[in-house]
Amino acid sequence: MWQSEVRVDLDAIRDNVARLRSGTGAELMTVVKADGYGHGMVPAARAALDAGADWLGVCTLDEALTLRRAGVTAPVLAWLLAPGLPLHDGVAAGVDLAAASLPQLDEMIEAGRRADRPARLHLKIDTGLSRGGATVADWPALLEAAAKAQADGLVEVVGVWSHFVYADLPGHPTTDRQLAVFHEGLDMVERAGLRPRYRHLANSAATLTRPDTHFDLVRPGLATYGLSPVAGERFGLRPAMTARARVMLTKRVPAGTGVSYGHTYVTEREANLAVVPLGYADGVPRHASNVGPVQLAGRRRTLSGRVCMDQIVVDCGDDPVAAGDVATLFGPGTDGEPTADDWADAVGTINYEIVTRFGGVRVPRVYD
Ligand code: PLP
Repeated sequence: MWQSEVRVDLDAIRDNVARLRSGTGAELMTVVKADGYGHGMVPAARAALDAGADWLGVCTLDEALTLRRAGVTAPVLAWLLAPGLPLHDGVAAGVDLAAASLPQLDEMIEAGRRADRPARLHLKIDTGLSRGGATVADWPALLEAAAKAQADGLVEVVGVWSHFVYADLPGHPTTDRQLAVFHEGLDMVERAGLRPRYRHLANSAATLTRPDTHFDLVRPGLATYGLSPVAGERFGLRPAMTARARVMLTKRVPAGTGVSYGHTYVTEREANLAVVPLGYADGVPRHASNVGPVQLAGRRRTLSGRVCMDQIVVDCGDDPVAAGDVATLFGPGTDGEPTADDWADAVGTINYEIVTRFGGVRVPRVYD
């Protein structure tokens, strides 16, 4: 008997990957960072590879090495690398690394020496996000140094890439501007004598809406898990995660009963309260207090009172509700339950954050 669980439908992940795969002539990198957006990095990676993904994308070296330790042999790119990491372990494990600065390039040259094979690099150029990636002013120095290191056999430049600011708002002019800047970058790459096999730019939104940004490789994350990056569009994706728990205790209370810390909810009439063993330690945002949706006892309801560390309370009115009944916080929405999008709307965040939060340690993940 389970108390709470996050169910992950690996068939949905496979379907979504197949859908993304069939929508592009480019290779497909499934982004499985952040524990597969809360779905479990290794199972998500395996499902994606089964369904035709060519690459896996992660942030950290640890994530990449975890994939290798799990026996995943597909190409992996890791792109969030602070100074001083044992990058040679990544190089030795055949992990591609993202470089955006001369110090990073130097570290990767050194990592290649230690691993006794040249590091495989994807040079990241900033086209407007002002996050990772070399700024336009720094491109010449980075590209020249990378070209020289490659000529000396110290690195292999496999890719050049960037990331979008506004792809989730189709038609936003910044996307066209970034694309133009990316093309300028590619010209400069060529002038530096580099011919990387992979040029890549597209996240989920661009993969789904902008084929002109696909180049040689697309990097969708969110859509893999069945969630849409574009408000109001579903793209035929199947949400893979369901979060639910069994009611632990019910009680009949009179009108005027204050519920949970701070009594921010007070019953208007006599009511059946259900106590559900999931809280902010499990991924339920505390901002969901009095607004988070839940399906329980045959209806969609709203959380009553503050979300606690481990528990939430739901006023079920006069509807019969019993210990052991299932409270579904979100799922694919096919049985009337709320979706991760409903949660994001209720809480004022994005669907990415909702599913990623539920990838915590306490609630068991169960795979269908
Ligand atoms: N590429 C990079 C560099 C990212 O950081 C991410 C995720 O944030 C992705 C691709 C995938 O983005 P999305 O989940 O929007 O598809």
